[in-house]
Amino acid sequence: MTAILGLKTAEPVLCGCCGRYSTSVGAVEAPGMSEVLWSCDACKVTSVLKVLGMNTMKLDKLESDTIGKVVKEVSADLVELVLTSMWETGSTDLTKVDEARMKVIAAKVTDSLMLHGIAAKMLVLYSNELRRVVAIDK
Ligand SMILES: [Zn+2]
Repeated sequence: MTAILGLKTAEPVLCGCCGRYSTSVGAVEAPGMSEVLWSCDACKVTSVLKVLGMNTMKLDKLESDTIGKVVKEVSADLVELVLTSMWETGSTDLTKVDEARMKVIAAKVTDSLMLHGIAAKMLVLYSNELRRVVAIDK
């Protein structure tokens, strides 16, 4: 099951190529279907048509490969966030961190504005990378 690529809705909600807000440009897959693959302003009609021609396995692979690439790009930010959170709780030695301290560190990571920034960065990178890989896919 794909999360973004190939997503079809009755009304313009999300672009079926990159997940950004879609516009009123759409592509009907088959006559009589009420759900349409919509496109944003940044994605090309040729990309929408390519996505419509891909089977679920192809869509899943593109999304999975894209997630893998994007996670690599934000992994250093995530490590920095965890280490900073450890440092701020006075935990400089992982072998001496007990369960209670680990919960404090985990809560600090979860509540961090930096985590929100990393998530936003990841979504933008993911969206842009999906748009790029679909456009170049042959
Ligand atoms: Zn798009």
